[in-house]
Amino acid sequence: MPINDSKYWDEHLECMPREELEANQLKDLKEIVQFAYDNSPYYKRSFDEAGVKPSDIKTLKDIEKFPFINKKTQRDTQGVGSFLGELCAVDEKDVVFISTSSGSTGVPTISPFTQKDFDEFQDTEARWFWQVGMRPTDRYVHALNFSLYVGGPDVIGAQRTGALCIWGGTLPSERLLWVLKTYQPSVIWTSPSYAWQLGEKALKSGIDPKKDLNIKTIIVAGELGGSISATRNAIEELWGAQVFDFYGLSDIFGACAAMCEYKDGLHIAENHILVETVDPATGKVLPPGSKGEFVFTTLRKHARPLIRFRTGDIGWIDTSKCKCGRTHGRIHVLGRKDDMFIVSAVNVFPSDVEAGIRSISGITGEYLIRIFEKDFTCKYSVEVEKKFDNLDSDENVADLVSKSLKARIGVKPYSVVVHKDGDLNTRSEHKSKRIIDERTSKPE
Ligand SMILES: [Zn+2]
Repeated sequence: MPINDSKYWDEHLECMPREELEANQLKDLKEIVQFAYDNSPYYKRSFDEAGVKPSDIKTLKDIEKFPFINKKTQRDTQGVGSFLGELCAVDEKDVVFISTSSGSTGVPTISPFTQKDFDEFQDTEARWFWQVGMRPTDRYVHALNFSLYVGGPDVIGAQRTGALCIWGGTLPSERLLWVLKTYQPSVIWTSPSYAWQLGEKALKSGIDPKKDLNIKTIIVAGELGGSISATRNAIEELWGAQVFDFYGLSDIFGACAAMCEYKDGLHIAENHILVETVDPATGKVLPPGSKGEFVFTTLRKHARPLIRFRTGDIGWIDTSKCKCGRTHGRIHVLGRKDDMFIVSAVNVFPSDVEAGIRSISGITGEYLIRIFEKDFTCKYSVEVEKKFDNLDSDENVADLVSKSLKARIGVKPYSVVVHKDGDLNTRSEHKSKRIIDERTSKPE
């Protein structure tokens, strides 16, 4: 823990000049690529087949010579040769923890940690909690699933800041509201949609989150809402609190990146992750700052190094120094590659639709997107809920939504369906399902 009340968890690490940061990345990259080649049967075979060797890495750009891996590589190699599979580079006796992915897009994949991997994971998490202002005087509720999920153990990182931590897990909302009211915690971490629903639920049960609760900081992750300013502002207004977005990958850490007080992208732990951005269709490496698919190489995780892992997330990275003084780049995540759809030659992410909807008052912010084909072209329609105290006609509400989406995305929805408050079945205590894709011919 920092000795004095520094604004940084580890000032030297977080603010070092880019040249020093990149020199450290190169040193770690050389080591991890060699370690992967020497200890993982998969990497040995794949590097040999591609005709590359660890000594080919002379600069950070040399990583571009190495083959990609993806979720499918993880699935195909899992359980092959040993319980942990061929991507793993240590004996099972050296592994102290595994988490698994949610399996929402197929067979769950295992992410193993050695003790050192785990300790460095928690030190990184502590850095994020500190970055959003959590201090030893805070009380923190960790309202994330503990079962198998990599976000559960982040509470250990939270404890490293010296804050009083309450291991909430996925408590039913009545019980969680009781915790918030009785223990008066100041910081909570949950998903953006759940932060919204919990606030609404509090109001409906006679608790005003602004007056009756003491939440000052809400950390959100798992969905894009925290990076959509309209959604963030709506949650901040409801709770009278600051909202900070975190970004994690079950394959790496509970949170790999986090907002600072300037909320202009999320600082990514570049001491652990080498970030590339590639064309999602061709895999061609794009210059930093271009929009594309993030490809991550883990620089220090020994149990299962990830060398050029295609994340499926689309975004861009800004490596200029932030106003907060930190030099680690800031990622802007736009959405999952698989969720993007193209309407009238415009690339649309569900997050664009969400931003358009959440900027309108008089509707609840719940929404459902339907993607379908009509006359061989892709269309989208949206369903929204009118707030119970909104006296405007459904036609007017639909017109407002349509205009807002046209202004933000450039393409009007095919139709807007307006439901009554509470009638849309999208509320969930975990990740909400908000997209129905009815296309018969989907893009690759
Ligand atoms: Zn910053």
